[in-house]
Amino acid sequence: MKYQFPIQVAPGQKLILTNPFNEPTPVDISQALNIETGTHDGVDVVLGSAMETWGREVVWPFPFPGTVYDAEVDSVFDAKIHAHSQINGTDPERGIEYSLVYLHLSAVTKTKAPTDTEVITYNKGDVIGYIGNNGAVQPPPTPAQPLAGSHLHLGLGVKNPGEANFTMVDPLTLLDINAPFVPAVAAMPEAACCGDVAIVEPAVTAAPLGFIGEAEKVISELINPTPPVV
Ligand SMILES: [Zn+2]
Repeated sequence: MKYQFPIQVAPGQKLILTNPFNEPTPVDISQALNIETGTHDGVDVVLGSAMETWGREVVWPFPFPGTVYDAEVDSVFDAKIHAHSQINGTDPERGIEYSLVYLHLSAVTKTKAPTDTEVITYNKGDVIGYIGNNGAVQPPPTPAQPLAGSHLHLGLGVKNPGEANFTMVDPLTLLDINAPFVPAVAAMPEAACCGDVAIVEPAVTAAPLGFIGEAEKVISELINPTPPVV
């Protein structure tokens, strides 16, 4: 059985694999290379276009909770700044610990350094960040095309009972790229009478924390309007 792929899409939208696991020439050149093997240690995924891809929510996909190991907005790889998040969770039935690594994010919903003792927990479907094109992506963004290179690099580490370290494996062995998350549509309350239309506002979530350039900030506001501070 596979779990849903941790990107939230609009109904009908599909995810596209642009670079598979172990591909020797990945879209993201430096940070995704496994130092030991020199190959791509995750998968690169887009939606239909950079505009559709940038700003998409990434979520925690497992039915058991995950805790944040590391979620930063100022990670530096290849002299470029981006946001990234690493979240770990243990399958209580099999005792296997999984680690998901999300790279090139435009923003994360919460930040935490590995040395922080704060415990941040995510449950299935919780938004942990937003897809971006920060860091070493190809093609690189330009002032004319600020969203170029937008994709999610997703890495999956697996630690079996008794093992000390995570081993990076192909995320698609566990996560179904054909089954992304689709936001739940709030049930429409029955109109009292006579054609009343009830509008159900989505729940307001906290504004994401992120490293967002000026051009991206404008687009970010379009895609993810900043909710009012309450
Ligand atoms: Zn990648």
